[in-house]
Amino acid sequence: MDSIAAVCWLRRDLRLSDNGALAAALSHARGHGGKVAAVFVFDTDILDALPDRDDRRVGFIVDSVVELDRTLRATGGSLQVLHGSARREIPAFAAALGRPVVFASGDHEPFGAARDAQVGRELSAFGSALRIVHDHAIFAPQRILTGSGTPFRVFTPYFRAWTAALEREPESVLAARDSRPRAGEIRFVDQPAQDAQALLARIGFSRGAPVPVGGESGARSRLQRFLTHVDRYGTERDQPSVEGTSRLSVDLRFGTISVRELVRAGRNRPGEGAAKWVSEIAWRDFYQAVLAHFPRTVDHAFQERLEGVVWDDPDTDSVAKERFAAWCEGRTGYPFVDAAMRELRATGWMHNRCRMVVASFLTKDLHIHWKRGERWFARWLLDVELASNVGGWQWSAGTGADAQPWFRIFNPVEQGKRWDSSGSWIRKWCPELARLPDKWIHAPWLAPTGVLREAGVELDKNWPKPVVDHAAERAETLERFGRVSGGA
Ligand SMILES: Cc1cc2nc3c(=O)[nH]c(=O)nc-3n(C[C@H](O)[C@H](O)[C@H](O)COP(=O)(O)OP(=O)(O)OC[C@H]3O[C@@H](n4cnc5c(N)ncnc54)[C@H](O)[C@@H]3O)c2cc1C
Repeated sequence: MDSIAAVCWLRRDLRLSDNGALAAALSHARGHGGKVAAVFVFDTDILDALPDRDDRRVGFIVDSVVELDRTLRATGGSLQVLHGSARREIPAFAAALGRPVVFASGDHEPFGAARDAQVGRELSAFGSALRIVHDHAIFAPQRILTGSGTPFRVFTPYFRAWTAALEREPESVLAARDSRPRAGEIRFVDQPAQDAQALLARIGFSRGAPVPVGGESGARSRLQRFLTHVDRYGTERDQPSVEGTSRLSVDLRFGTISVRELVRAGRNRPGEGAAKWVSEIAWRDFYQAVLAHFPRTVDHAFQERLEGVVWDDPDTDSVAKERFAAWCEGRTGYPFVDAAMRELRATGWMHNRCRMVVASFLTKDLHIHWKRGERWFARWLLDVELASNVGGWQWSAGTGADAQPWFRIFNPVEQGKRWDSSGSWIRKWCPELARLPDKWIHAPWLAPTGVLREAGVELDKNWPKPVVDHAAERAETLERFGRVSGGA
């Protein structure tokens, strides 16, 4: 048997290029004259909690794992795939291999941090160790702090400090980590399940709705495609009918491409579009820092004074229950909201502009706590990341790390007119409205009877009347927030 000097435990970094943990494991093994054992665990602590056995994220991970294994085989190695609780599997795996050091990329989410602490303790108990390598964001949360050493609470000054830190040492911060294994460096282990179908079956899942192509190959082709129109990012990024954004969030989520590679690509392009795009990637860093520094914000308002806002509870209030169901199922009667919610369930994707509008609608028009929406997104979004999801929801609810006051409330009709002016995207997801003229597509209840008849729209029969009146609910929100906020 080969001597194993290091284990590379891959989790949210499903790639071979520019992978910090893998680079560290290879370097350690080179220094100690042994091989690296690469391992991925289908963690039952996560999988068992998923409500659907055909969860499309599992499909994406399986495809990415299979591609990783295939690429490793070309170097004479392979990926060990385990199924069980990672808290037990990793220590047992390391113990069986003679207690090599285990390398993994850092995870600041509360679940990941607790898991890693436990695995680290168990490994140390028998003379091994868990070495965490920062990899998932450009900067680790503790790297970007205010002049007085405290975490930033607002994005703009954070971004200034982020940019300054990057400009100080761009080569070292953005350098691609040397993680491409040479022939024979990764241990080979033959596995019974090497194709995606067999792997899914082995872990008790099946293929659900189609997912984007996984693995590094999928990520890289999305990046190449996006770079052909990155110049237009500034103008196209808000229109759901246009593929104006990169669609790389799923790749950042599962690490099928390195965030450094994206920032390198963005900085290599001249123009405002690419610069704007890099600043959006910095939002992701920011939210990861917020979550790491303020873990209570997973459930509680970042702005503590807003913790006392009164919300309607779908568990105890039948009206709120019905409104929440209408929001989830895309039948609020507001076409821009309903199209977004339907697209989410059908594809696992929602455009950023739509995320902001539906989140504002749930919290400010329906007065339902942002946590409900955050959990719904967590169930369906392919790219769900706790930090960005909680950050995005708190931003939209007005309770988050944000310079804007809580009285920013999106008007769902005006947002539709502005960002999907011809209604082409709404028509795709709300075919009941397909024949309605552009003028009425964003507010069908205002259309004259003859227009509705001609378009085949029957209010409260094949298209719901609006579940609430936006103007009235806006006033109600201002009242509720005003009561606890003591001003903006
Ligand atoms: C209520 C709400 C919930 C959200 N939940 C998530 C989530 O669970 N996971 C997630 O990755 N993003 C989330 N976002 C942020 C944003 O909507 C997505 O990152 C973006 O739509 C992904 O599309 P893209 O890859 O084409 O983005 P691009 O526009 O191409 O941006 C490039 C990358 O920058 C990052 N990014 C862009 N915008 C944001 C942002 N506002 N906040 C944080 N990072 C950003 C993403 O990693 C994205 O892939 C949420 C936003 C809101 C308002």
